[in-house]
Amino acid sequence: MSTSRHPHHYDVLIAGAGPAGTACALALSSSGLRVALLDKASFPRDKICGDAIPSPTLKHLARLDPAYATELQELLAPHRADTAFSRMLAPNGRALRIQWHNPAFNSPRLHFDDALLILVRRHTATKVLEKYTIRQVEADADGVTVWPTDPAQEPLRAALVIGCDGANSVVYRQLAPSARLNRAYHCAAVRAYYQGVADAPENTSDFYFLREFQAGYCWVFPVGNGVYNVGFGALSEEITARRLDLKDVLQDLLAEHPHLAPRFATATQLTPVTGFGLPLGGSARPVHGARWLLCGDAAALIDPLQGHGIDKAVHSGILAAQQAQRSFQAGRFDAECLAEYAREVERHIGRELARRYRIMRFLAGKPWLVNLAVGAATWPWLRRRLVRAVG
Ligand SMILES: Cc1cc2nc3c(=O)[nH]c(=O)nc-3n(C[C@H](O)[C@H](O)[C@H](O)COP(=O)(O)OP(=O)(O)OC[C@H]3O[C@@H](n4cnc5c(N)ncnc54)[C@H](O)[C@@H]3O)c2cc1C
Repeated sequence: MSTSRHPHHYDVLIAGAGPAGTACALALSSSGLRVALLDKASFPRDKICGDAIPSPTLKHLARLDPAYATELQELLAPHRADTAFSRMLAPNGRALRIQWHNPAFNSPRLHFDDALLILVRRHTATKVLEKYTIRQVEADADGVTVWPTDPAQEPLRAALVIGCDGANSVVYRQLAPSARLNRAYHCAAVRAYYQGVADAPENTSDFYFLREFQAGYCWVFPVGNGVYNVGFGALSEEITARRLDLKDVLQDLLAEHPHLAPRFATATQLTPVTGFGLPLGGSARPVHGARWLLCGDAAALIDPLQGHGIDKAVHSGILAAQQAQRSFQAGRFDAECLAEYAREVERHIGRELARRYRIMRFLAGKPWLVNLAVGAATWPWLRRRLVRAVG
């Protein structure tokens, strides 16, 4: 299927080597296509995140090749915490402990994303270009061209670009019509690493729902080796309206919240508090056009209820790889042909995220309802329904 007669440098350019981009490269491993994976960072690199790896992530990778999931687990063995439980604290201080059906794990993105890239290098012929910052992307009738910020690096051309370049995606901003930030479908969150946190079992992730913030929560997630990822996130609409400084909010919570303050009284902060954006699913963001596709955060596929996006990034990266192969078989990269990808994303991911967005909006501003749900979940039948609805 490769195109030696083709004038392009590559068949497919994947912009961004996070979970979406690496999954896409892995899914193209036996396609015969010439693939380049570009990232502005040099790996291992940090990514501001809660580091909770949702359980479908491994399932999607294992479906591609069981070896990917096994090797990923091996690579991450020194850098992970297996989590079977969550504790949720309702705004009224009532606590609920839940055991999840599908055990997940937490792992710092520094190591998790690096392990994914190791798999790409090990199992595919992908050309990996680190420290390649994309400045500009242009699509024309014959292909797509990507220009780097560094004039010493050469521009690249391909038949198709797959934008896996995260929440501030250059591919989205430059190729999607009327790209803009919709604060109703956007969260911002901050996090820092701590050690010495009290009452913190290594197999339990903690969620604190707070009366004073409508659609956000504070988290304390173990990430292995006695280290905890601690953060707070909220809807951008609310942050703007109330002029919240999330770094201050997190520091105040850890110092003053009646349940958090005792846990952090003797804890040591290991890193500065840093923040990043979360484009939520459920919006009508376009995910394709002539010669381009978007995946993961670039396509706004984060779960509005939990703030999880790693599994959706991996899943959409795989769906984009399947579309790339269909397009090369048909020799078509027009918007009509690539619309099949948008339909697949909607069917497998988008519809469910839209449902969860509606639940999130329904619960926002009703702390009494969260209190009620947490209280009622002490009944086993209701607890099972809650676990199914949230997890
Ligand atoms: C504070 C916070 C907490 C979160 N917690 C969780 C959680 O616990 N669990 C979960 O599942 N999700 C969580 N998320 C969401 C999760 O981080 C994202 O959904 C996930 O990283 C999306 O993967 P991606 O591959 O689409 O993008 P990213 O992981 O952002 O990867 C994008 C890649 O593109 C590269 N890139 C960007 N711009 C350019 C450019 N111009 N040129 C070249 N390369 C570029 C970047 O360097 C990066 O490597 C959280 C997000 C935030 C902000």
